[in-house]
Amino acid sequence: MVYEFRYLAPRTATELATVLDDIKADGRILAGGTDLIPNIRNGVFKPRIVVDVKKFQGADRMAFGSEGLSMGPAVTINDVLRSKDARERYPSLCACAHELASHQVRNRATVAGNVVNASPCSDMAPALLCLGARAVIRSATGERVVPFANFFAGVKKTVLVPGEFLATIIIPAESAGAAGRYLKLKRIAGHDLGIVGVLMTRKDGELRFGVSSAAPTPVLVDTVGAKDDPDEAARKVLASVSPISDVRGTKEYREHMIGVYVRRLLSEVE
Ligand SMILES: Cc1cc2nc3c(=O)[nH]c(=O)nc-3n(C[C@H](O)[C@H](O)[C@H](O)COP(=O)(O)OP(=O)(O)OC[C@H]3O[C@@H](n4cnc5c(N)ncnc54)[C@H](O)[C@@H]3O)c2cc1C
Repeated sequence: MVYEFRYLAPRTATELATVLDDIKADGRILAGGTDLIPNIRNGVFKPRIVVDVKKFQGADRMAFGSEGLSMGPAVTINDVLRSKDARERYPSLCACAHELASHQVRNRATVAGNVVNASPCSDMAPALLCLGARAVIRSATGERVVPFANFFAGVKKTVLVPGEFLATIIIPAESAGAAGRYLKLKRIAGHDLGIVGVLMTRKDGELRFGVSSAAPTPVLVDTVGAKDDPDEAARKVLASVSPISDVRGTKEYREHMIGVYVRRLLSEVE
């Protein structure tokens, strides 16, 4: 049931930080709304104030520079797929983006909203984890930078506290050129949340795996060595992930499929 709430659309990042500082836990940030609006409709959240993060100048900025690829909080999943920099330098980011929902949802859904929502099923998290991305978190008192490896704190929980917003996502330049592929198991052939998702990236002999939809948070595994045989690699990934049973799949099914995907990715990602 939708009820009345105030809508604010700050025009600068400083104004946004001030507004969030004033309202703290009474408010919720709105990006694409593809998670927030269903949650408001279903009564999960009842904010008195909804603060739009897309309207300030530069919110939709996506640019590649010496630091790497930076994305503002209004950058959508389809912006990523349309970006030449993303496609050419970070193919695994696009592989994950391509698996997120439908074209229509991807037009609204933002990368920032996807990771702040912190669903275990987040399709963008495996890419940000494997590519060593950092979250620039802003508030009225300043800025802090948190690697995505330390960003997820539990099911639908992140390290953000009231008054803070995710201002920029930076994918470092050193990760550019990493080869990668994302395999996502779904209940149907069309778009769906994953039963399990495994991204593998390979750069300069270094392997990384990002696993979604298996544990309470998306997981980064960087313990697999280039010389490990497929069984050893699968064992190492499973040891870090500890899959759970839930409505979409059992622990055993997830364990089996993670093993299948790790072995397949090792032979496919050159
Ligand atoms: C039909 C459908 C299918 C979907 N399929 C998938 C799928 O296959 N894979 C998948 O991963 N997701 C899926 N989703 C979930 C959703 O689309 C994504 O998580 C999306 O990326 C969320 O982004 P958004 O911009 O819509 O976020 P919003 O809904 O606007 O926000 C999500 C949460 O993050 C907070 N927030 C947003 N931006 C910021 C910020 N910059 N700083 C601090 N807090 C912020 C909001 O307050 C809210 O709590 C699906 C959703 C729908 C409706």
